[in-house]
Amino acid sequence: MSIFDTSAQAGALCAIIALGFMDIAKDQSYIVFHDGKDDAGEDARHEQLRKKLANLGVNISFQTQSSSDKPLQPVILGRTGREKLQGDVVGDIRDLMNRLEKEVNSGKHIPLRGAYIGGLLSADCKAELLDPSILYCYAPGYREFTPEVEASYQNALEVTQAVQDFLQTEFKDGSRQKKRGSLLYQADPRPISTAAPKSTENKKLFGSVHGMTQSIIHYAGNADTSKVNMELALSADTCKVASCIPCSIFMWANGTPASAAHFGRGDNWNFPSAIFERIQMCSGPDQLEPLAGYPLCVKSWMEAVWKSYDAGKACLEKVSQTVLSEDLKHAIQLDRNQIPRMFLEALTFEGPFLSKMLNVLPEI
Ligand SMILES: [Zn+2]
Repeated sequence: MSIFDTSAQAGALCAIIALGFMDIAKDQSYIVFHDGKDDAGEDARHEQLRKKLANLGVNISFQTQSSSDKPLQPVILGRTGREKLQGDVVGDIRDLMNRLEKEVNSGKHIPLRGAYIGGLLSADCKAELLDPSILYCYAPGYREFTPEVEASYQNALEVTQAVQDFLQTEFKDGSRQKKRGSLLYQADPRPISTAAPKSTENKKLFGSVHGMTQSIIHYAGNADTSKVNMELALSADTCKVASCIPCSIFMWANGTPASAAHFGRGDNWNFPSAIFERIQMCSGPDQLEPLAGYPLCVKSWMEAVWKSYDAGKACLEKVSQTVLSEDLKHAIQLDRNQIPRMFLEALTFEGPFLSKMLNVLPEI
């Protein structure tokens, strides 16, 4: 028996943390994405979620986003409270980003689903892009390995490699310029193919460091008030210009909340491996010494996860315990000291947050 024997048990922990996050991050905005396939269905499912949350005392609303909105704002921004960067990504730099988008969608490249690339944007129309998602493998602590993990890893590896190849080709001659705008690619010196193992050998799980997480970690301590963490949503298959729930929690903990959050996937979300190892060494909220010397935002993230978990549990205490499913009851009773690590591993059971939450939150 593991801590998570089923994806529903893991999904319940994700749902409690997301619920608590929504309760405490009062000004977070959320989107429903319309891809033209089943928009009415998507609206209905989000409305069902809205009602379930309202029954638990958490009130949120949704804005609609569709692919036609993307050329106007191809990047996700962390909100900083810095006036200059509150608005749209302007003119020349936006054009440069959309040119990259046009090239990747030209049919000459393999489709890039989920190609979110982290970077830093300046108010003076300059942006730096980092490499695509970092991938690495680690031994499970709370669940069993399943063959789906390997299949999913291969898929992630393929996309990541393709994004890196694309960026390396496009930026062969250095940066891209348009009038005032300039776009620079800060390639990792190690190609992803050698940095990441070729398979999840020895039945390991894998972590994926999303673009925004890379940006926040890479530029940690950035005190330049004209710069803001960003994530470029590259390719037609990378549709949502909004942050996943795990990124949104980290951004909120970092003091740069997501400009918008979506209820899609945050599969395998994690920190870079050196930081993840440190997180594993922390045995509880009062034992965070292993994080000494690491960016403060990691400690803030752990504290935000505990706070969200507590808030989520408090929301569930408001209703009759007889309406709680076995999976929710299981998640409520987990060892609180280990919740941040368990949350990271729960995210290796893949699926949209919308389903995870609809599946377990009670009907009242
Ligand atoms: Zn994310």
